[in-house]
Amino acid sequence: MTDTTIFGKIIRRELPADIVYEDGDLIAFRDIAPQAPVHVLFVPKTPIATLNDLQADQAALVGKLVHAAAQYAQREGFAEDGYRIVMNCNGHGGQTVFQLHLHLLAGDQLGRFGT
Ligand code: 5GP
Repeated sequence: MTDTTIFGKIIRRELPADIVYEDGDLIAFRDIAPQAPVHVLFVPKTPIATLNDLQADQAALVGKLVHAAAQYAQREGFAEDGYRIVMNCNGHGGQTVFQLHLHLLAGDQLGRFGT
C-alpha cells in the first residue's frame, strides 16, 4: 500500500524536507510550521494512517520512533534540558496528516498542555 500523504511524498523524495535522520524503518524531518525552537517529526516508512490502525506486529515501530527521537535529543545536546514527544490521533487529537508520526518539541520551556 502506498502512503499518499505529504509525508509519503517526503519519504519518496517527491517533496522537499529538511531531513535530519533516516534509517530503514523511519525518517525524521523538521516541521514546516514549528511550535517550538526544535520541532522534528519522526515518521515510519510503513503506511499507517493513525494510532487506531496500528497492528500488534507493528507496535515495535512506535518504540523505534521514540528511541530515534531520544537519540536525536542526545546527539543535538538538549536531552538534559528536556523535551516533549506527542502523537496526535484523529480529530479530537488534532491530527492533520494521516500517516503515523511523532512530534519532538524542544529548545525552550514548553507550556503545560490540555484542552
Ligand atoms: P499533526 O497535526 O497531524 O499531528 O501534525 C502534522 C504536522 O505536519 C504539523 O505540525 C504540520 O505543521 C506538519 N506539516 C504539514 N505539512 C508539512 C510539509 O509539507 N512539510 C513538513 N516538513 N511538515 C508539514
